Amino acid sequence: MEKMDLKLYNTLSRKKELFKPLKKGVVHMYTCGPTVYNFAHIGNLRAYLFQDILKRVLQKNGYQINHVMNITDVDDKTIAGAKAARISLKEFTSTYETAFIQDLKKLNIILPSTFTRATEHIPEMIDVIQKLVAHQYAYMKDGSVYYDVSAFKPYGKLAHLDKKGLKAGARVDVDEYSKDEVQDFVLWKQQKPDEPAWDSPFGKGRPGWHIECSAMSMKELGETFDIHTGGVDLIFPHHENEIAQSEAATGKLFVRYWLHSEHLLIDKEKMSKSLHNIYTLQDIEEKAFSPLDFRYLVLGAHYRSKLNFTWQSLESARHARKELEEFVREVLAEKKDPKKPLPAFYASAKKQFLAAITDDLNSPKALGVLWKFIRHYRTTKTKHPASAYELMVTFDALLGLDLYAVRSIQIPATIKTLVVKREEARQKKHWLEADILRGELQKKGWEVKDTAHGSIITKR
Ligand code: AMP
Ligand code: ZN
Repeated sequence: MEKMDLKLYNTLSRKKELFKPLKKGVVHMYTCGPTVYNFAHIGNLRAYLFQDILKRVLQKNGYQINHVMNITDVDDKTIAGAKAARISLKEFTSTYETAFIQDLKKLNIILPSTFTRATEHIPEMIDVIQKLVAHQYAYMKDGSVYYDVSAFKPYGKLAHLDKKGLKAGARVDVDEYSKDEVQDFVLWKQQKPDEPAWDSPFGKGRPGWHIECSAMSMKELGETFDIHTGGVDLIFPHHENEIAQSEAATGKLFVRYWLHSEHLLIDKEKMSKSLHNIYTLQDIEEKAFSPLDFRYLVLGAHYRSKLNFTWQSLESARHARKELEEFVREVLAEKKDPKKPLPAFYASAKKQFLAAITDDLNSPKALGVLWKFIRHYRTTKTKHPASAYELMVTFDALLGLDLYAVRSIQIPATIKTLVVKREEARQKKHWLEADILRGELQKKGWEVKDTAHGSIITKR
């Protein structure tokens, strides 16, 4: 696939910028992961779908991606949840961590290269806090350590804060607070009775929420890295504080491109646990929708626009996705192109699609191009099904709707096992074994086609 310039909206500059990674050919990217105190709701999942499209576009442009996502497994909410359930913090969080990863898989989200758990990086966090204390950006008070926001001059550069209202010496101990409460925030909290705690040079305690992302991202990706993503609600205070911590500790720019996705709403309000207006992926599946119907629904809105969720809109998404699958099956069945020149609209659809998706990930526009192509194909006399199929494969590598896998064909378990075995053999470059397995599949009436995105299986 040809490379195209990629423009991304950077929250730091409030502008679309041409993306260029720091190191040629590799993108270092960090996503704020879930706080595992409950099942993710579909609003949370919108944020992960957004970063998945971003990753797919980066991949298309030929970049290797080193992608890290954290799992917040110690904070105010997880501690309270474990206490209420009367189980250990680890037991409590691991249930939700597993469920979260399953949700990602169901949504066809490419998993990060690395998941980092907060509880496994306490020494790294202590190390950053020590640097901040040494450089006088942090101070101790009543057994806890706080970040002095007045010491970091650029504080507020991401959220565009008006610092006039800043109250000198006022402090917050909780992890989440609003822009109206710009204050010194906690880096290390003194141990409270019945709370998990770790030894540190500042006394027994536990980290605040913000420090984990600074410590883990810099450890895995370097002191300056390319992309940091999250939902818009993380701009303040979380990401503002990450910048303050990291840049004061290293004296270097922390992140080059900050990307934020807008909220999923319900009845015009942000979907959130505290408003009791959430749905999980399980709720969607219980109503017989596929998680990929939700993926389609999300793709239909630009990631920087709010999206109001309704069951009716999910129904329309299901309908559209089914029709797309139908189209892919249709062109796949016809197989060969006629020996006639390929009409120009095939190439122009590809060009327009790529132009849309590389223009700050304009997925609704890209979907529009796709549908226009299908309409055009259906009304043209001489059809080129193989080329149409190739085009759908190209589009779906970016959309991730799993169209080329044609999921709805019933593939027996024995056949699936053979395909997986063959895929493993191919990965190990055991070509002879792979060929034997292909022969076995053919004998049983199935054809495998190898593409850049894995094997596609069809009935012969
Ligand atoms: P949390 O587990 O609360 O830290 O949130 C995980 C991710 O979901 C973050 O990137 C949030 O910004 C994002 N998020 C939370 N609520 C919504 C929502 N209603 N719509 C879209 N993203 C959300
Ligand atoms: Zn974070």
